[in-house]
Amino acid sequence: MDTTQFLKKTIDGVTQIEPALTPPPMEGTHPAFAKKPKLGSSHSKTKKREIPEGLWTKCPSCESMIFDKELDENLKVCPKCQHHFPIGSRERVHSLVETCTFEEMDAEMTSVDILKFAAYKSKLDRDRKATTLKDAVITGIGKIGSHRVALGVMDFSFMGGSMGSVVGEKLTRLIERGTEGNWPVIIISTSGGARMQEGCMSLMQMAKTSGALAYHAQHRVPYISVLTNNSYGGVMASYAALGDLIVAEPEAMIGFAGPRVIKDTTHAELPPGFQTSEFLLEHGLIDSIVPRKDLKERLVKYLEFFTAGHRYRKA
Ligand SMILES: [Zn+2]
Repeated sequence: MDTTQFLKKTIDGVTQIEPALTPPPMEGTHPAFAKKPKLGSSHSKTKKREIPEGLWTKCPSCESMIFDKELDENLKVCPKCQHHFPIGSRERVHSLVETCTFEEMDAEMTSVDILKFAAYKSKLDRDRKATTLKDAVITGIGKIGSHRVALGVMDFSFMGGSMGSVVGEKLTRLIERGTEGNWPVIIISTSGGARMQEGCMSLMQMAKTSGALAYHAQHRVPYISVLTNNSYGGVMASYAALGDLIVAEPEAMIGFAGPRVIKDTTHAELPPGFQTSEFLLEHGLIDSIVPRKDLKERLVKYLEFFTAGHRYRKA
């Protein structure tokens, strides 16, 4: 049997070069190359157990692995422990309105970097690309059951659901359209608060949306506010807290300032469950806790209740 031989041949006129297989020098290399992983080491074991990304999601509450398709079909709620994952605004609209009844409003409205705030424009571009949304809220008129409603749904994946001038303007137009058409307004909130990159322009949205809701209330047409996980700041200090009915998803965190800020300011120990929807139901801020899969049915019941003997148009 012949043995393969690797012979270094020199070609006339060509200076000797290093063979291509020379290992890179150890000094100054990336740490990943510094140590060769041993066969059968823990590293190779974890590699075997690696789960392809985008197929499974680990529930942060019960730690079980959920098949993504199952999670989607269950409206992003863990089938084992009922933990509510964040849900996109489009999926939410789809889960609530009757098929082909939703007419989106102001779909092309976009924020302007009015203050030339550092990195704001690039953040807007990044989130527009990542979410394919134009801003942190979708608004429109659609039917829930047999009731035509003005529906606004916020999206946390767009700059933390922060309320800038576009969110405020879109919601104000939605509320005004609801008032005009005598349709109930439903807003599903999730937000980190006002959008600091728009400074006082974002804070002005609090007054604008609240003013529109005051006119809406004068027409004696209902407004239902639905609070979902992470409803904070300027949103909670304005339209989200002004519902004729305020409902919340289970275990949602709701407040103005976050618990850490309150704890640091008051230097007091916070009660267990502070700022959860369960705590706030007990203390009277919200009227009801509704699991996501029951929300549509429950909204229809509320709308039926409000419609009974009322003058506002049903459809
Ligand atoms: Zn779970």
